[in-house]
Order: sequence, then C-alpha cells, then structure tokens
Amino acid sequence: MSEHFDFVVVGGGSAGAIIAARLTEDAGCRVALIEAGERPPAAELLPAACPTLQLNPETDWMYTADPGHCGLALAEQRMMMPRGKMLGGSSGINYMAYVRGHPGDFDAWSQGGATGWSYQEVLPYFKKSEGLEPSDEITVDAAAHNTDGPVGVSVRSPTLIGALEFVEAAQAAGIPKGDYNGRDRGGATGVVSLFQTTTRKGKRSSTYRAFLEGETEQRVNLTIITGAQATRVLLDGASGQSVATGVEYRTADGQLHSVFADKEVVVSGGAIGSPHLLLVSGIGPRAELEKTGVPCRVDSPHVGKHLKDHLHVALFFPAPGCGLPMAEVGMSLGPDALRAPAGPLPADPQDDADMSDDLKALKQEAERRFNEWATEGRGLISSSLYDASAWFSTGLGDHHTHDAQMAVLACGYNSELWSTCFRINPDEYFDDAAKRLAADAESVVILANPVQPHSEGEIVLESADAGDHPDIRMNYFDDPHDMRVMLAIQRRALDVVAHWPSHRTLGSLLVPPFLARKHDHTEGDVPSDALLEDMARHYSFTVYHPTSTCRIGSVVDPELKVMGVDKLRVADASVMPNVVSGNTNAASMMIGEKAAEMLAVEYGLQIAEFVGVRAARPASSETRSEMAS
Ligand SMILES: Cc1cc2nc3c(=O)[nH]c(=O)nc-3n(C[C@H](O)[C@H](O)[C@H](O)COP(=O)(O)OP(=O)(O)OC[C@H]3O[C@@H](n4cnc5c(N)ncnc54)[C@H](O)[C@@H]3O)c2cc1C
Repeated sequence: MSEHFDFVVVGGGSAGAIIAARLTEDAGCRVALIEAGERPPAAELLPAACPTLQLNPETDWMYTADPGHCGLALAEQRMMMPRGKMLGGSSGINYMAYVRGHPGDFDAWSQGGATGWSYQEVLPYFKKSEGLEPSDEITVDAAAHNTDGPVGVSVRSPTLIGALEFVEAAQAAGIPKGDYNGRDRGGATGVVSLFQTTTRKGKRSSTYRAFLEGETEQRVNLTIITGAQATRVLLDGASGQSVATGVEYRTADGQLHSVFADKEVVVSGGAIGSPHLLLVSGIGPRAELEKTGVPCRVDSPHVGKHLKDHLHVALFFPAPGCGLPMAEVGMSLGPDALRAPAGPLPADPQDDADMSDDLKALKQEAERRFNEWATEGRGLISSSLYDASAWFSTGLGDHHTHDAQMAVLACGYNSELWSTCFRINPDEYFDDAAKRLAADAESVVILANPVQPHSEGEIVLESADAGDHPDIRMNYFDDPHDMRVMLAIQRRALDVVAHWPSHRTLGSLLVPPFLARKHDHTEGDVPSDALLEDMARHYSFTVYHPTSTCRIGSVVDPELKVMGVDKLRVADASVMPNVVSGNTNAASMMIGEKAAEMLAVEYGLQIAEFVGVRAARPASSETRSEMAS
C-alpha cells in the first residue's frame, strides 16, 4: 500500500487521537493515523477492570525497565512499565485520575524556554477537551473548567468510605480541601480532594471514546490503520537537511507498508514509543545509533534522555469498616468475574442450573450490580478505586510547585494483583498474605509519591529492529534529593493516618517481616527513617508517568518541531520539558489539543474552534476575556 495524506500521525493515544480528530474537522485535510494496537476491548470501559488491561499483549506494550537504585524486592528486580497499545493509548488502560498539574509547572516550562507553554497559555487547551459533570462531592472552581468538552470528567458514584475519610484525615492534618484543577492547586499548604476522573456516567472516557469513536472514525478524510507498528520515519535529503516524507509501518503479517505526508509527520507514540521511533529512524545520539547499526541521519544527542517518572511506595493499613473487600469488587464486576477456577460459580454458564440456592442468589446479585453500572453508571466498579489525593510541598525544594502527592487506594487488592501488576511477592511482603489479602479483608493503601524527581533515566536503543524493545533505564533515586523527599512524604502520610476520623481505628502500618527484623521494628512502633528508606528501595513502583524523552528545548522546539528535521513534530508526554507535579494524562491531552491547533494555524485549516493565543480566526468571546484576565 502506498498512499499520500496531508498529515501522518503515529500513535492514537492520549495526544495522537486528539490530533487526528481535530485536524480532520477540516473536511479538506487528509490524515492517516497509524496505531500499533486495535480498537479497545469492552473491558476498557469498565473503570475497576483497568489492572486486567496490563500484562495483556493485546492492550499493553509489555515493557519492563531497569529501576536503577530501587526495585530490590520486585520480581527479577525489574519495574513494570505498562503502556496502552490501542486506540486511546494509555488513556485506555490508565487509572483515570484527571489531574492537570500545578500552575507553576507550566510557568517553569515557559521560563525555561518553552515559549507559549505558561499556565495561562495552556489552560484554554485543558478546558477545550474537558466535559466536567459537576458534583456536590467535590469543590469546583467553575472558572477553571468546561462542561461541554468531549472528555467526560466526573466523580465516582457512590463515593467510597475510605476515600472520604482520607480527605477528612488530610484536612485534619492541615491540608485544605479544594479544587486541585483550579484556584486551590497553587496554595502553599496544598490541597486534598476526591479525584476528578476521566469517566462519563461511570464509564471510562478514553481519547478513543471521546474523540474517535462514532462519527469521527467514519470521516472520509481520516484513515485509521490499526495493527500497524511504525518502524521508521521516512527521511529525504542529505544529512543535516533531512525532511520527513512519510512513515513505514509493519502489519501483523510482517509486511512493510509506507504512507506519505504531503505536509507533516506527527509522532505521538508516547514517552517510550516516540524516542524509540526517532532512534530507529536515525535521529538520535550518533554513537548510540552506530553501535546498533542504525545509520545516523540527524545527530540529536538528547533523544531518549532526561526521562522523568513518578514512583510511589505503598503504605498498607488494615481498615475494618472503611476499606473495600475484594469480594465486593469481584461481585460488582458481574457473574463472569466469579466463575471457576478463581470464583465459586461454575466455569461453564450452562451448568448454572445445577447450582445451590446460595450460588444462584450470588449470581443474581452480581448481575444486578453489573446491570446497575451498565445502565446507570453507578456502582463499586465505576472507578479504578484510586479515588482521592492530596498535593503539598515538603519544603525541601522545587518551590515553584508542589513536590509531593499522596493518594489513597480504598482497597487492598488481592495476591494476584500484587504479584502481577506490582511485581511484589505477597508472601514476602505480608506477615500472613492469605489473611491480609483475603477476599473479605478491608484495608487502605496510602501511596507516597514524590512528584518533582531530580533523577533522570533514559531510553536506549538496543537493536536496529523497531520490533525489539528499547532498553528502559529509569535510574530512580539516582539523585539523593529524591529519597529525602520520599521520606518526608512517607512521614506526612503517617501523620495523615494519625489524624484519621476518630470513630475509626486503622491498624498499624504493615511492614514486610524481613525489613521489620532488619530494623528491629515491632508492630505499632514509629518506623525509623532507615526502615522507610528500605521500604522505598525494595518496594517503590512506577505511577506510570514517563515523560520528557523528546523534551522541548532539547529535541523539539516550542512548536514541537524536531530540531534538525523539516516537517516532523513530536506531540505527546515525551515533549514535556519536565514532568508535571501530578498525573500526566490531562497534560498529554492538552499537548494534543495545542499541537493540533498549531498545525491548523500553520496550514490554514478550518477546525471547529480555536482557543489559543495564536488563533487564526477571532477567538470566541469566552477565550478573549480569559486571555485578557
Ligand atoms: C497503567 C497506567 C495507569 C495510569 N494512570 C493514570 C492516571 O490515573 N491518571 C493520569 O493522569 N495518568 C495516568 N497514566 C499516565 C497517562 O495515561 C499517560 O501519561 C498518557 O496517556 C500519555 O499519553 P501519550 O499520548 O504520551 O501516550 P499514549 O497514550 O501511551 O499513546 C501512545 C500511542 O502510540 C502508540 N504507538 C507507540 N509506538 C508506536 C509505533 N511505533 N507505531 C504505531 N503506534 C505506536 C501506542 O500503541 C499508543 O496508542 C497511567 C498510565 C498507565 C500505563
């Protein structure tokens, strides 16, 4: 196949799906969207099922990474690094927290040379995507939100006791409640809230669901090619004057094809996929490319470098009466989740007629709950269970933003999730894994999460074959500052737990027995710094937020044009000059919105709405007053 389009977009994820959808609002603009995955499976809509989309090669790239100075007790001492592989990308497998970041994050980008990326300049793009459903459960700064955008943003229903009590405890410990996506995020004392989530009526609102599904994917000017891994950006011209002309991709049958871009190629493969594609195309550090046999077309030493990510350590507390038993979650997922061998219902539904009355009642209740979610969007499964969070400053640095996040999981999960998704051996972590992770056990997990890491990792090319994974070196805790911040957040988390509402008694922090012995810790003791550090070194795991591997100023310019190559841009989490101090999906979508508008302005496209400062048409009155204020 050989076809010409105006734009070829590689990767239909958080940013790429938006770019393809927005550009094709102009009926005269022909776009090819090349995506390695397929359309999402039905489970993608089901918020509580998100862990099942990881470690599934149909929906996850199955990367693991070298953690650097931690991960000592993770399976094979490797860090999981899931990345969504489907239309919607990681917005289809993520935990759905809708968090934009601190205004100071973007102002620091702008002050560092990313012209056009200050908070006031990016806010219209956050709002453009957002379709907030107001809720009495949270404080909303209405001026910072939009209720009409395509991405559903809402608060789960019903709210979970563990999350509500976390918010109360954090308030009692001095962190005020407020809108973390609005005026309250900048405060010195920080902010706590239930999460706003990328859901609409209890269902996931990925960028596939919000931007492509339905009318958009039927547009005659949009060609979506799924099951197609881009293997190379096609470059013309002598070294030093390279021009991107198209993309080569491989389909599942191993065949290579090419598509050509008359205007530009936009790479939106994410913080791992984008640098990887540039490297195999010969755009990267010369010595590294030549070592793997890739001819260097553009010596770009920063491609794949400056990798930032968030990682957190789980602090686990038994929480009778306030945590959520896995049995309840399982039942709410519907009868299929309760079938043998893991569950009590027969493996074959045809055998259901022979079940006991108790099992019939169980099945009926599971059906009722699942139908309630499917029809009304309510129920335990309407969120990922990652349901509330606080941000604040430790005072140790990065005073332009908050350097700390702390979130709550209202459920202790089960052995399978600990060993697969977290790569933690429950029999080593818990004194009695069968008891702590029993189907009826109730626990809360507080996640201590530094959000302005100073350590930098890298994506390094291992092979010239785009089908081989690159070497992902996270290098966590390389800078000692990051461990100091981690300790401060763990201490603050213990303080929040000490302020838990008085009608409830949480159990003591569970410390892995071998670390308790090593540090002479007995249950109920205040853990020493050395013990908390050891927990972080052994058991921290990624919050799944890699960024900055093609960052503005090093690989691309503020217009996202790859330096040294014409007609090639990168637009996704990889261009962030630094990771934002919060979850990264909203900022990735914002990058997609802004990139689409930059392209529309440059090529005179008639897209439905321009919200930015460099609008090609007169901005809407709302946008004009926003810019003036
Ligand atoms: C398990 C998990 C949980 C998370 N939880 C949250 C959360 O709760 N809140 C939050 O804000 N953020 C969360 N994140 C992070 C957030 O989802 C990402 O930061 C964001 O989706 C990144 O967007 P992106 O456009 O950069 O990349 P992606 O959304 O990953 O999109 C990249 C796309 O490109 C495709 N691709 C890559 N390479 C190629 C190639 N060579 N050829 C063709 N296609 C290619 C991929 O298949 C993918 O579809 C989570 C991420 C994960 C993985």
